[in-house]
Amino acid sequence: MKIICIGRNYVEHIEELKNERPDAPVIFMKPDTAILPKKTPFTIPEFSTDVHHEVEILVKICKVGKYISPKFAHKYYDEIGLGIDFTARDVQAELKKKGLPWEKAKAFDGSAIIGDFLSKDDFNSVENITFELQKNGGMVQKGNTSHMLWKIDEIVSYVSQYFTLKKGDIIFTGTPEGVGKVSTNDVLEGFIENKRVLRLHIK
Ligand code: MG
Repeated sequence: MKIICIGRNYVEHIEELKNERPDAPVIFMKPDTAILPKKTPFTIPEFSTDVHHEVEILVKICKVGKYISPKFAHKYYDEIGLGIDFTARDVQAELKKKGLPWEKAKAFDGSAIIGDFLSKDDFNSVENITFELQKNGGMVQKGNTSHMLWKIDEIVSYVSQYFTLKKGDIIFTGTPEGVGKVSTNDVLEGFIENKRVLRLHIK
């Protein structure tokens, strides 16, 4: 399986990092080795002193597709989840400065946190899902999929123009504002519509 991530998909997050608003979705990938096994704490890697949480809505692909039109995109995913796209912000800043790819900052071991998935049918509309990340019991990030620059169906369609999507692939759909540093002993908890779907210790 593969993990495809969308960057810069929420305006306030683009502004907080002083990035340019893109005219097409920003895409990067994480290998399957980036997935942190369930019930395992996240260890801050030694190459970074500024690892940020980015909470994101996840989409799980349920069948093979290529050149999917936005109109039929909803047929290609059946589960919605929540995850964290851990980012070594200091490493990313260096790479961005040099115009280099982000993988060292975004695709390292353990950088993809994948919480529990819910059936797509549990939601009236995937374009109106509220989600939240709490750190040590306090809210740090809150978002709603209605604020995405590119909606889930548009993302599935766009990504499939470049990469064949296969059953089990996961798309990280971008983070809202409020990204921030994690420290040893932090506890992160993620919620979709007030249902806790993710809990993680930082080591
Ligand atoms: Mg992200």
